[in-house]
Amino acid sequence: MKVLNFGSLNLDYVYSVDHMVKPGETLASFGMNTFCGGKGLNQSIALARAGVPVFHAGMVGGEGKLLLKACKESGIKTDYIRTIPGQSGHTIIQVDKEGQNCILLYGGANRSITREYVDEVLGNFEKRDILLLQNEVNLLDYIIDQAYERGMMIILNPSPYDSALDSCDFSKISMFLLNEVEGEQITGENDAENMLEKLQAMYPKARVVLTLGGEGSVYQYKEERYRQGIYKVKAVDTTAAGDTFTGYFISSVIDGVPVPEGLALAAKAAAIAVSRQGAAASIPSREEVIKE
Ligand code: ADP
Repeated sequence: MKVLNFGSLNLDYVYSVDHMVKPGETLASFGMNTFCGGKGLNQSIALARAGVPVFHAGMVGGEGKLLLKACKESGIKTDYIRTIPGQSGHTIIQVDKEGQNCILLYGGANRSITREYVDEVLGNFEKRDILLLQNEVNLLDYIIDQAYERGMMIILNPSPYDSALDSCDFSKISMFLLNEVEGEQITGENDAENMLEKLQAMYPKARVVLTLGGEGSVYQYKEERYRQGIYKVKAVDTTAAGDTFTGYFISSVIDGVPVPEGLALAAKAAAIAVSRQGAAASIPSREEVIKE
């Protein structure tokens, strides 16, 4: 069984500023860092650090070598990543003295996925292989349809939620991993209990894992329901908490671990990520998680 994550690869250009740039203003920044990220890459890193041999598919453009290097350093298989002319997906992030941020996103190569490329990548996978998706690449509806035709098990993290998801056939999804914001956007409910009930009614064949930030997480499948609290840590930076949780929970599914243990493992890994600064950099290795 092989695991494919078809998702975004982003360069995050982070600038330290006195205040956010105002309209018409030119402002000198006093520091700059480049990080590799995107929900796609972060979740592949989480899978790899959890010990899953994961193939990443997606496109990169200018400075794509940095993204490929980040993949390779984390043990992600890059065979299907394609480099194209133009810009890689990237963000321009301003961080002010209070630690507030402003993020400008450009999809670039992440939004240049073609049907021919999807067919080529999926041609390497077969029945029961696992496909993980987020909503940061284009043609998601086509990817879902083609993977379903092949009998792949499709896991969707519908994040960030936007109208592109409306054209996707969610009845083809085997597992949803989502947070409360996405849960509300899909179901129209704002209470976790109602969200779960409605998601089960809408997609009875899908397993649902709903994460509730500091309130933990809930798993629901038919009559089966498990709750998991958080591991208490001093929260330093919650970026990538959900991506870490996703990678680790999927690793437990692949290992055939019972759901309650899988939720506990994912919560533990996410808590470590929350206790550290950064996105991809904060995702722990399996050794660190087990040691805790
Ligand atoms: P997302 O990052 O997608 O918004 P959540 O905020 O729901 O996802 O967080 C995902 C998981 O991370 C939670 O289910 C929980 O296990 C863990 N987590 C989130 N915030 C904290 C926190 N303050 N302390 C410990 N664990 C946390």
